[in-house]
Amino acid sequence: MPRWTGVEGKPLIIAGPCSAESEEQLLETARRLPKSRVSFFRAGIWKARTRPSSFEGVGDRGLPWLRRAGERAGLRTATEVAHTKHVEAALEHGVGLLWIGARTTVNPFSVQEIAAALRGVDVPVLVKNPTSPDLGLWIGAVERIAGAGVRDLGVIHRGFSIASKTRFRNAPMWDLVIEMRRMFPQLPMITDPSHIAGRRDLVKGIAQRAMDLGLEGLMIETHFDPEHALSDAAQQVTPERLTEILDLLEIRRPATTNPDFNAALDALREQIDQVDHDMLDVLAHRMRIVELIAESKRANNVTTLQVARWKAILEDRMERAVELGLDPSYVKAIYDVIHSESVRRQSEIMSGEDARPPLADQAAIVRPVPPPGPALP
Ligand code: PEP
Ligand code: MN
Repeated sequence: MPRWTGVEGKPLIIAGPCSAESEEQLLETARRLPKSRVSFFRAGIWKARTRPSSFEGVGDRGLPWLRRAGERAGLRTATEVAHTKHVEAALEHGVGLLWIGARTTVNPFSVQEIAAALRGVDVPVLVKNPTSPDLGLWIGAVERIAGAGVRDLGVIHRGFSIASKTRFRNAPMWDLVIEMRRMFPQLPMITDPSHIAGRRDLVKGIAQRAMDLGLEGLMIETHFDPEHALSDAAQQVTPERLTEILDLLEIRRPATTNPDFNAALDALREQIDQVDHDMLDVLAHRMRIVELIAESKRANNVTTLQVARWKAILEDRMERAVELGLDPSYVKAIYDVIHSESVRRQSEIMSGEDARPPLADQAAIVRPVPPPGPALP
């Protein structure tokens, strides 16, 4: 674990208000934090707000407040930077960690400008995921900052803005988190449950999910008087509630030396491997039947898409899924993929554009898993 992330086996905690509002607010919030468990005291100095009518932060005058609050509480400080000027001003005031906000990560010009300002500077930098679920944009921003020679680099998962409504302010999309981890296993990743939740009562549950996945830490917005906060009032927690959340969190270990557990896990994983191989055999078998159907539809000049049949399949499979205790939306998603691939394959055969190699060669085709991404510091 890198030196800046803290103690091995303990999550890195960044806590403090969404925005710096006054010196008293920062002093009082920092004073009441569970200091032995918090690594950095955060406060937004410049706020990138969606609408200009929202509170846009106190600006540079908040930096001395942040420094004093951190010093009194014995905590290093952290803030968001979106411009070269922010980086310079923050470093002048001894800010100990900088992060790039979700609205900045979406803009490679801004990220490049920040990267240039960070050249030769020894400060940890965390890159929040972009507002849209675009892994490439997130990785690109990390690469730009790494390219400036920043050694202490990490990412913050703060959820994604998507069209469909979820119970959260920003959809967590854990599959993207897992993909990021697969590509960059060494890159520290923390979750910001506050911006995912948008509501303080949901913060703890999301924080636990992050710990269950083995992420390195959490950024939790904490305010001494959340109801009267000038930004993100609904999602901030009091310092006392933060202490409670940290007490309640179950911190999982990545592995254990317990031989019974390891043996049981190996046995279960062998079963999973077997089930997955069986599933692939079944999918291949299904596809061979689809091909026979396509050939006979072609001979009889019948359409590939048969809406009534597709409806009947879905109804039947969903009913069965419920009987088997499977989540219907999970099964629906799988069947959407299966059906669309069936229609694609049928069209291929019926149009005479069968690009499929002879069956004997197909066995040799193995879809390569993309290799892990480039090593980042
Ligand atoms: C913040 O951390 O206060 C913030 C503005 O977050 P985000 O960039 O994730 O919206
Ligand atoms: Mn906020």
